[in-house]
Amino acid sequence: MARITEDELDDVRARNPIADIASGYTKLRRAGGKLVGPCPICGGRASSQRFEVIEKDSSWVCAVCPDGGDVIRLVEKVEGCDFRAAIERLGGRTAIDAARAKELFEERERKRLAREKTSADYREAERKRLFRTWKSAMPIHDTVAARYLEGRGLELPVHCPGLRFLPTMSYWHGDMIDERGRKAPRQIYAGPAMCGAFIRPDGKFGGLHLTWLNVITSPDDGTAPAPMKAEILDPDSGEVLNSKKMRGSKTGAYIAIVMHDAPRRLVIGEGIETVLSVWTAMHQAGRELDDMAFWAAGDLGNLAGRANKTISHPTLKRPNGQPQKVPDRFPDLDDAGLSIPDSVEELILLGDGDSEQVLTEYAMERAARRYASQGRVIRIAFAPSGLDFNDLLKAAAA
Ligand SMILES: [Zn+2]
Repeated sequence: MARITEDELDDVRARNPIADIASGYTKLRRAGGKLVGPCPICGGRASSQRFEVIEKDSSWVCAVCPDGGDVIRLVEKVEGCDFRAAIERLGGRTAIDAARAKELFEERERKRLAREKTSADYREAERKRLFRTWKSAMPIHDTVAARYLEGRGLELPVHCPGLRFLPTMSYWHGDMIDERGRKAPRQIYAGPAMCGAFIRPDGKFGGLHLTWLNVITSPDDGTAPAPMKAEILDPDSGEVLNSKKMRGSKTGAYIAIVMHDAPRRLVIGEGIETVLSVWTAMHQAGRELDDMAFWAAGDLGNLAGRANKTISHPTLKRPNGQPQKVPDRFPDLDDAGLSIPDSVEELILLGDGDSEQVLTEYAMERAARRYASQGRVIRIAFAPSGLDFNDLLKAAAA
């Protein structure tokens, strides 16, 4: 028998609605948007409601078996036959003419678009949730977050629109099984957090950058140590988890450490602390800052945008002896990256000291190529110690 085409499979599925076939095997009743009942494969009790038919996806699932799939898979499992035999039982393959093929293709497309819309709706709902969190946050000055930054030798601009403070924020990690036997996100920690707002290229709020902080409660006699990043442990493995998280969409978005409508000079770095360290150094040196904006991009990929390809790392190898791949120095121009205001004549890109060196250098070069324009000077500064950009700035000015 020749290979069965995707159109022929769709045709078999279309001729055999999942609800009809499943109902021939077991007694189903409607519950929410689904049909539930005893599993025709494992016989799971009706009350457990673990056998479900989801008509809109033409699929079934049994949490006890545990198995699931399309109507063909159901017949295979219930009848104990193979894939080909299941198709025969469902009326077999039939010749598909061009008109039927087109119809099937359009049906597939309709379903794909519906799925995409669902995920776009989900992302938009998540963005709105995060925006509510952002609106509930406090100004950052005189908070635990401000003290955390002070403890690292950083100052905050008087007007710092992109950073706020949340007295308590949940930290979600992994899944748990809720009382109805469903997977749900698991909160493993809650505590104070510094939060940054990602602003999308269209000017709208995109998502949050979160840094959880610990609070050391001791009498306020001037000896209290500065807050640090919180140590958050995975309750199962004991593994130390990242105290920073980015949620929502950060693609092409930035955190405004210092905002300016039409900056002549723009400083962009990966992390909030890196960018603040440069602002602090310039501020303390009494530099002219009126024509400047300072942005944090969240990570290197967002700062530099997508590469046109990946290339071999000059020295690093994978465990199998093959060279490691890193994104190249040339941008994929289909990805716009960050939208740099036209007013920017001098763009200063900050390379963090904590990422892998070659990866960082390539990303900086990629960013410089991407954001190059007529009459714009682009400087790349690397922080050898991770935080002290002061000397580099002096050198750049000399
Ligand atoms: Zn079952």
